[in-house]
Amino acid sequence: RPRVGVLALQGDVREHVRVLADQGAAVSLVRRPAELAAVEGLVIPGGESSVIDKLSRAFGMREPIQEAIARGMPVYGTCAGLILLADRITDGIAGQQTFGGLDATVRRNAFGSQVDSFEVDLDVPELGDPPVHAVFIRAPIVEAVGSGVEILSRLPGDRIVAVRQDALLGTAFHPEVTGEHRFHELFLDMIRGRAA
Ligand code: GLN
Repeated sequence: RPRVGVLALQGDVREHVRVLADQGAAVSLVRRPAELAAVEGLVIPGGESSVIDKLSRAFGMREPIQEAIARGMPVYGTCAGLILLADRITDGIAGQQTFGGLDATVRRNAFGSQVDSFEVDLDVPELGDPPVHAVFIRAPIVEAVGSGVEILSRLPGDRIVAVRQDALLGTAFHPEVTGEHRFHELFLDMIRGRAA
């Protein structure tokens, strides 16, 4: 069973724990470097990226996470988590930092304020049928990607909302809140592939 941590500083931690556990992972909460050292993969949840950024620095987690990413640990970020994986962000708050690793430019709150949340059925060829029912909540968008980044899904109108680069997976939406488990399965496969 893959040992997967969910970064538990802020955000929809419980929803990820549930999906990962349902898929057979051994799940633990990660708030400290020693807890990160004990897992084979990490999920960065949705929430508020600027808060997770600040708390990660306050908890001494920034460098350990960056080192884990540099070593190739699989990391899956949803929404705020995707923002935190991006090498470059647009519309961050003053001083906002990311962990980085994903060669992409991500715009925060790309669809406007909280009331502009929406749901859509997304075609994700990697996951096959049926389409992914995706919930976007004050969601970011991927504005640009480097050549090493695979685009897994776009909205109608071509805006990029799911990407993968080596061991990093990111979605602008929240599969963890809709009973969708295929992104988490894909992530667990990435962890198993690395261990093999
Ligand atoms: N707007 C949030 C941010 O900037 C992300 C919202 C979400 O995770 N649902 O971090």
